[in-house]
Amino acid sequence: MKKISKLLIVLILIILTPTSYVQANDIRKILLINSYNVESIWEYKIIKGIKEEINENLNINIKMEYLDTANSQNQNYLDEYLELLNTKYKDDKFDMIVTVDDEAFNMVRKELFNEKSIFYKKTVVFTGVNNSLNLTSAEKKYITGFMDGGSKVELIKFITTLQPEVKDISVIIDNTGYSKNIKNKLLENKYLLDKNINLNFIQGKNKKDILNQIKNSSDLNEALLICGIFKNEDNGENVKPENLIEEIKQIKDVPIYTSRDDYINKGTIGGYIDIPESCGRELGKMILKIYNEGGISKFSPVDKIGANYIVDYKQIYKYNINTLSIPKGTIVINKKYYQLLLPKSYRIGYLLAWFATILIIIYIITKMTEYKRNEAKNKKLYQMAKEREQLKTDFIANMSHELRTPLNIITSASMLLEMKSNKEETVSSEYILDKLSHINQSSNRLRRLINNLIDISKFDSGFFECKCKNENIVYVVEDIVHEVVDYAKEKNIELIFDTEEEEIISFIDKEKIERVILNLLSNAIKFTNENGKIEVYMKSDDNFIYITIKDNGIGISKEKIDHIFQRFYQVDNLLSRGSEGSGIGLCIVDEIIRMHGGKINIESEINKGTTFEIVLNVSKSNFIDKEEEKTDRNIKDIVKVEMSDI
Ligand code: ADP
Repeated sequence: MKKISKLLIVLILIILTPTSYVQANDIRKILLINSYNVESIWEYKIIKGIKEEINENLNINIKMEYLDTANSQNQNYLDEYLELLNTKYKDDKFDMIVTVDDEAFNMVRKELFNEKSIFYKKTVVFTGVNNSLNLTSAEKKYITGFMDGGSKVELIKFITTLQPEVKDISVIIDNTGYSKNIKNKLLENKYLLDKNINLNFIQGKNKKDILNQIKNSSDLNEALLICGIFKNEDNGENVKPENLIEEIKQIKDVPIYTSRDDYINKGTIGGYIDIPESCGRELGKMILKIYNEGGISKFSPVDKIGANYIVDYKQIYKYNINTLSIPKGTIVINKKYYQLLLPKSYRIGYLLAWFATILIIIYIITKMTEYKRNEAKNKKLYQMAKEREQLKTDFIANMSHELRTPLNIITSASMLLEMKSNKEETVSSEYILDKLSHINQSSNRLRRLINNLIDISKFDSGFFECKCKNENIVYVVEDIVHEVVDYAKEKNIELIFDTEEEEIISFIDKEKIERVILNLLSNAIKFTNENGKIEVYMKSDDNFIYITIKDNGIGISKEKIDHIFQRFYQVDNLLSRGSEGSGIGLCIVDEIIRMHGGKINIESEINKGTTFEIVLNVSKSNFIDKEEEKTDRNIKDIVKVEMSDI
């Protein structure tokens, strides 16, 4: 009884254990059989995917075979190849056979229950097999894998989605099982009937065959679908996809679609593509799962994986295909990250929108900078206006003082004289002369002030004009210096005139230049202490005349020096300054020199002195001077007026 029960347990265990059960550690060797040859990119990528996935598991050793059925398809060849494999791998114990594409799978399947075959009851994992394979229950114990592509009608749907008007599609196929499968699948589909689409099959082995058929095909006019790989008739090698597409386009330049990864990015629009790397990786995962879980009893053939719509961005625009019709989830290649998948017409709008945005940005930036610039300008103007306002206020205060002082002197002197004569007192002529000289000096000060004010208003209204003539400027300056010497002497100031040349003829307004020199000299005397020294020096070169007036007086500080030519500017305010003046003299000097096309420079240091340098152009007029207008002007009077401050 015990024996029987032991036997039963062993029997149950044997029954429950699948014949093909593979122990995890047993999986060592895989034979991978490809239907085509090493050149087939599809198969190459599948193997790459498998290896990527299982490479970490170093227990696995893969041997590779290529049936090359695209070249030789007759049964004899296949039989002999099988014999070869049986001999070659007689002693190899493969744990698993992996097949890529129909031909390899069909060969292995046929031998699955042949005891003499190396494939006898081996675990078989396939990929690229069409889904109409009906496995027997016996076969299901050993076989699993990925079905190929399901319905190929996806390809046609893709074409009609992108080109809704298409009615004639030419399908270019080779003689492989893959191609035949595509043809059968397309023909049996009723979608074509519904859509009234006419398929024209161009089938061949060599490039020449195919190109000739395309040339002769009359109904090929809307779209091509390329599914085959073709040989170069001269050397028997596979034609490079890009070359084939190029040659087809030279015959018929229509959008070309494809079912194969090989033709993607080679001038085709795209297609519904099996992505071989992802198929390979899924296959690798399945192999590992079988390895880890100990067999295939838990598996049944899995639907196609890794297929996707792919479009080529460049080709889409080349053939004017409406980008809005591209199905969702389509992989777009050749598209830069900044490019949008928009119809051509939208693209113009899109570009215009970009352009407009850029313009708006530029406009905003310019407006902002303009605003900022204006703001700074306004600030500056406001500052200037404020300063000017301050100057004016100071000027009015100053002016009142300037007017009142001489006026007071005049009134009090004349009142004294009046009182004396009313009382019929005898007054000495010295007394009268003294009072009259006060009255005269004050009148001159008033006249100078009024003259300067009139000149300033003449500048503003544009009436201040120069009446220039050819003059020896050396004389003009020297004469004025002589007239002023006595005034300098009164303060014990030494006034020296020196010149490098005796004659420099220049086209000037003598009166105006006299005023300039007089003003500079009167300032120099005014702001130089007793026993000081003033030097007037003249020289010229080929282009310029230089007149320097240098004193060793009180000087002007650096920060004030920039404002010295400003109207109404006085270095010291009314209360603190020690000298008389309205602050408009230097402004007039500057204007006059400018009117002569020259400029005036100033250098000064506190307590060391000040140097003014007038630079005038050496200019002589060719006009013969008109006779000098006779004026009753007296230089002494003019000097008296100008020096009235001192
Ligand atoms: P003002 O009629 O008051 O002299 P100016 O325009 O001629 O007016 O001079 C402006 C100010 O420049 C003077 O008030 C004085 O402070 C300063 N200044 C001009 N010349 C000299 C100089 N040689 N030395 C020192 N300060 C001077």
